[in-house]
Amino acid sequence: MGWVIKIDTGKCTGDGNCKDACPSDVYEIKDKVAVVVNGDECLGCESCVSACEVGAIEVNEE
Ligand code: SF4
Repeated sequence: MGWVIKIDTGKCTGDGNCKDACPSDVYEIKDKVAVVVNGDECLGCESCVSACEVGAIEVNEE
């Protein structure tokens, strides 16, 4: 069982709130957009979803 992270790159402002909120270092900010670099480490805690001010992130069970 894992977690699928979806980022709406049209909404993402690259502010890095998801990166700061994530306890597992799942995100990097590249070219002003959040990128999943470590998806296997996702805990499904949804801290990134709450932290994102523009609602650009969805985390769903695989
Ligand atoms: S759900 Fe939690 S562990 Fe997974 S990417 Fe978001 S903040 Fe990180």
